[in-house]
Amino acid sequence: MKQYIEEAEKVLMHTYSRYQIVLDRGEGVYLYDTNNKKYLDFAAGIAVFALGYGNQQYNDALKAQIDKLLHTSNLYYNIPAIEASRKLIKASRMDRVFFTSSGTEAIEGAVKLARKYYYKKHGVADSQIISMDHSFHGRSMGALSVTGNKKYREAFGPLIGGVVFAEFNNLASVKELVNEKTSAIILEPVQGEGGLYPATFEFMEGIRKLCDEKDIVLILDEIQCGMGRTGSMFAYQHYNVNPDIITCAKALGCGVPVGAFAAKEEIASAFEPGDHGTTYGGNPFVTAAVSKVFDLFESEQLINHVQEISLYLIQKLEELIEKYDFIQERRGMGLMQGLEFKIPVKDIIPKVMEAGLILITAGANVIRFVPPLVIEKQHVDEMIAIFDEVLSKI
Ligand SMILES: *Cc1c(COP(=O)(O)O)cnc(C)c1O
Repeated sequence: MKQYIEEAEKVLMHTYSRYQIVLDRGEGVYLYDTNNKKYLDFAAGIAVFALGYGNQQYNDALKAQIDKLLHTSNLYYNIPAIEASRKLIKASRMDRVFFTSSGTEAIEGAVKLARKYYYKKHGVADSQIISMDHSFHGRSMGALSVTGNKKYREAFGPLIGGVVFAEFNNLASVKELVNEKTSAIILEPVQGEGGLYPATFEFMEGIRKLCDEKDIVLILDEIQCGMGRTGSMFAYQHYNVNPDIITCAKALGCGVPVGAFAAKEEIASAFEPGDHGTTYGGNPFVTAAVSKVFDLFESEQLINHVQEISLYLIQKLEELIEKYDFIQERRGMGLMQGLEFKIPVKDIIPKVMEAGLILITAGANVIRFVPPLVIEKQHVDEMIAIFDEVLSKI
């Protein structure tokens, strides 16, 4: 393992502080490194691998598509993209879909679509977007420009203009920024990287009302909190609101690089041929995965399962708060949970890994729990046992 890591540090750009293991294979909710050490996975590749590793039906669908047709470009139609669109539309209550290869590109597309909608209405390209502090939307220039974290943005200016930041869950702070140039408001229903903060009901409903009154496009970033993770297909379905555009990725393809943005007809129709495009986006391979993922969500009743099992996870996490006074609080929804510590958590992660458990952080003081959606009670118990043992030595 040491040799692989040394080579990686020579050949890969230094953009990540990686944990010091080389992962080799997965089975269910477990991962194995190249030394065959077994890890219980409560990170799921950052909220990606909802189905667990080695789902036979998923793997078979992908293998079949590889033998049939991997890629065609978007100059032609293909059946998996049509089927995947139909299923995503049904699940999201949107009208039209554009497939991308990542979450970041879904954000790029959503921002472009909101700008084009404004341009068609006003005839000038001078629109503004309101985003939220502590939000995360991706690393390309556009997605970075709407990401509310100075640390990520600072060195890369000038970014795209016309972006202002409000305080998450503070409706007044959003209203203060609205003017006649406001084209879109973008937010995560549950902030992920920012530290597992769910939007309040008042905030979401207030934002929707504001957008209706001023004809502002509401973009909800469901890249992390979507696809069943919070106990509904999309997190906004817990609230009494519908977005105008949603962005989706991570668990959408459960491991193949695919994202999407989907919109209501009125907004989507602002795009005309030539306005947006991608070579890979929506190719038959990735959309066959998306299509199978939606089928498996239904046949395995994953959303019901998340609703049930997350209650157990929440109960067990609450018990840890009772036990350790260095844990501040629990936040999150469904199987998207965070524990905020009063101490930095960076050093805890390698210790739990040593003990056979994979966890990740969300900021300096928060440990994040985003397991595969198929976890069972016994996996929660196993996770808590390992975690508790490590915490007891702090
Ligand atoms: C991960 C993430 C993104 C970026 O997606 P990538 O696939 O990494 O490009 C955007 N928004 C949110 C909320 C995310 O969690």
